[in-house]
Parts: sequence; C-alpha cells; structure tokens
Amino acid sequence: MRFLILSLSALIVGTAACVSGISGSNAAVSDGADPSATPRRTKAVREITYTDAEFDGKEVLMTDAEWKKILTPIEYRMMREGGTETPFTGAYYKNHEDGVYYCAACGLVLFRSENKFDSGTGWPSFYQPAFKKNVIEKVDRSLDEVRTEVLCARCHAHLGHVFDDGPKPTGLRYCINSPALRFQKAEAPE
Ligand SMILES: [Zn+2]
Repeated sequence: MRFLILSLSALIVGTAACVSGISGSNAAVSDGADPSATPRRTKAVREITYTDAEFDGKEVLMTDAEWKKILTPIEYRMMREGGTETPFTGAYYKNHEDGVYYCAACGLVLFRSENKFDSGTGWPSFYQPAFKKNVIEKVDRSLDEVRTEVLCARCHAHLGHVFDDGPKPTGLRYCINSPALRFQKAEAPE
C-alpha cells in the first residue's frame, strides 16, 4: 500500500496543473518521478485502489506532509484538518444513485447507498457504515457541544460526525463531508 500511495504521489505532482481544469493531456508524468519508472497516463482525478472488504487492521498512516502531496487542497482541509464542507454544496448530499462510497484518501469502503437517507441537512447522511470496523468514532470537544467524530479506520482521515437523531433501524446519522468520499456507481445487472 505504501508503494501504491507513493506512486500516486508522483502521479499527482505531475498532474497538479490539471486538477482544477479540464485537461485532455495524456502526457506521461516526468517531473519528480523516477525516469526508469513505467510511464503513467495523467488523469484529472487521482486514481484510487478501492477496497470492498471489512477493514483488516492494517493501517495506512503517513505524515501530514505526505498527505499534502497526495490529496487535493479541499481533501486535505477536510480529511487531515477536520474541516467541514458548506452544506448543500457537496457532490453527494443529493446523490441517489446505487453504489458504494469509499474513503477518498485510502480507498477503503465506508458507506453504501442502501444505507443513505435524505437528512435535509445538506450533507451526505447514512444510518450505518458499510462495516462497523471500517470507521473509528472519537469524542470531539472542538465546539461547545460534545460531538462524536467519525474517521476512516485505515488512514484516520476525518470523515464527519455521527449523531443519534437518525432513522431506524440504528437511529444514527453519519453526517459526512463529500470531499472525504469517492462514489462508485453500482454496475447495472446483466
Ligand atoms: Zn481512509
């Protein structure tokens, strides 16, 4: 995994210029990368290897400086600095498609569309994670009220918070920031 992440790092360094713009460039990455490495095609969106299984206990822990090289500024702000996206602005709060939501930093499966509900808050909301083991819940005293922070179990990315005003069957509301998630649409049945 570490090798993979470092490869992604090299990839993103080479593509930083096209992250915010539409780019048709397919040029091989060269700056900063090992010249003997296999050329990779650039992409406007960082490639992630998705993991559909329950968390196996192998954490992916890196320094802030390492994450900064890999994540986009908005992802870094949300996932490493505990930021909160402005409600009703994110990519996923009104996404009703069938599919799976992965950690935008490490690709671990976090939530599923069948557990998503419209909370009216303007943030993507789920009543349970894909696997309980795939998230960490931690007491957050950063505001006047005591909240429960939700993090990715594998890379400890900040995802959002969980509240106890959700629907049945759990009564929970996982209130998650869109930039911390990557959605993959379910494949249509054959
Ligand atoms: Zn993660």
